[in-house]
Amino acid sequence: MLRRALLQASARCRFSSSASLLLASRRECSSSSSSSQVPDDHFVEQSVGTPQTPPSATISVDRSTLYHPPDHSHEPTDDSELVKHLKNIIKFRGGPITVAEYMEEVLTNPKAGFYINRDVFGGGGDFITSPEVSQMFGEMIGVWTMCLWEQMGQPKRINLVELGPGRGTLLADLLRGASKFKNFTESLQLHMVECSPALQKLQYQNLKCLTEDSTNGNTEKRCISTIAGTPVSWHTTLEQVPTGFPTIIIAHEFYDALPVHQFQKASRGWCEKMIDVTENSSFRFVLSPQPTPATLYLMKRCRWAETKEIAGLDHIEVCPKAMDLTQEISNRIGTDGGGALIIDYGLNGIVSDSLQAIRKHKFVDILDDPGSADLSAYVDFAAIRHSAEEVSADVTVHGPMTQSQFLGSLGINFRVEALLENCTDEQAESLRTGYWRLVGDGEAPFLEGPDEQAPIGMGTRYLAMAIVNKKQGVPVPFE
Ligand code: SAH
Repeated sequence: MLRRALLQASARCRFSSSASLLLASRRECSSSSSSSQVPDDHFVEQSVGTPQTPPSATISVDRSTLYHPPDHSHEPTDDSELVKHLKNIIKFRGGPITVAEYMEEVLTNPKAGFYINRDVFGGGGDFITSPEVSQMFGEMIGVWTMCLWEQMGQPKRINLVELGPGRGTLLADLLRGASKFKNFTESLQLHMVECSPALQKLQYQNLKCLTEDSTNGNTEKRCISTIAGTPVSWHTTLEQVPTGFPTIIIAHEFYDALPVHQFQKASRGWCEKMIDVTENSSFRFVLSPQPTPATLYLMKRCRWAETKEIAGLDHIEVCPKAMDLTQEISNRIGTDGGGALIIDYGLNGIVSDSLQAIRKHKFVDILDDPGSADLSAYVDFAAIRHSAEEVSADVTVHGPMTQSQFLGSLGINFRVEALLENCTDEQAESLRTGYWRLVGDGEAPFLEGPDEQAPIGMGTRYLAMAIVNKKQGVPVPFE
């Protein structure tokens, strides 16, 4: 009922321009070199006489046999601040860093990380995401959120948390779509978990926020999104979001930005892929001579897999931050009630070698000019399920299902039809293209013009998974 009412509501429309709909999302860039094709000249297997030690609980990192780059500190260099910083870490540590540490620095270094100082989305940026493709995405997430809130017994106050809200578009569309359902919008406290000060500012603008004096007499200011009169606050980690209230957490294209460790099978067993600096001062991959601390996570991940799943693999990625974050989410939902929705591209099983770099809508080399390109990796949804179930007996995990099934079951077809009834020709084309991008599979069949301009559907490569408190029953549309 609620779903139908929302779909018919003539909420104010946010039509995307059709030009922006033709831009590449992270998984469909025109490829010059992809992650799995690491150029050979970047890769060196360290020829060390390490015995074939199986991973054990006692781990030490022996960097003594690794290459030590010469000190370049007095030579003039064109290196960016971030490149200098990465080279300094490698130099002062006396050896290479893990791919995860590289990824974390490249994306979120507080001074020069990829996300930190700019808007990376859309036409002028590096990639496009579903909320930027069409208003319908945020609206459908709104339908999901309202249904869960109903299943929770319509609590008077809930925390609605978004992890990595980008431009804030998803929540702005969610609030606009839900603004007629006052009981729901009045229950919301929005919490934005965002590490980028530049994106925090954009979120403030897009949520049409005002800052006002606190009502309870203390000197603190509070922010209100004027879209539906909802209080908003910002945090850099989920841990900072207050507990003690039922909580709904949305993570759209957040998990893929969490740092992954990469392992490769060598003659001496599984070795961690690391990043080092060559004599001519460029980055290259090397293999760790001995088990590294992250091997513990590799072992944990492999225990969750069937032997045949691992047997044919010579690369495995693990994401300890994703496992830890999932456990934090599950504990919170297990205690406070509510649920989490995770949507991302990935697999329902072990991920082998997926790390990729994207600059200006094109795949580039992972080691090329770090900080100027996005880095992301496939999400291992099976690891999320196991992490959630391991830590809390009070939550259940549902899915993953494809984005196409998820949005289709929530009623996106009815929504697009309702919007098409009242729009210009240009808006209609934009809506149709956006709809295809969200739920289609492969190139859109209806678009005339050059192939490279055909919108490509994200409907089957993106997956949706929910973690909910057992009390809430099965969330829509996972029944
Ligand atoms: N959800 C948005 C943006 C996805 S991009 C969308 O779909 O459009 C990833 C987002 O997560 C960005 O906002 C980025 O700044 C944020 N982010 C990445 N790593 C983070 C971290 N470790 N902590 C907090 N925010 C992070």
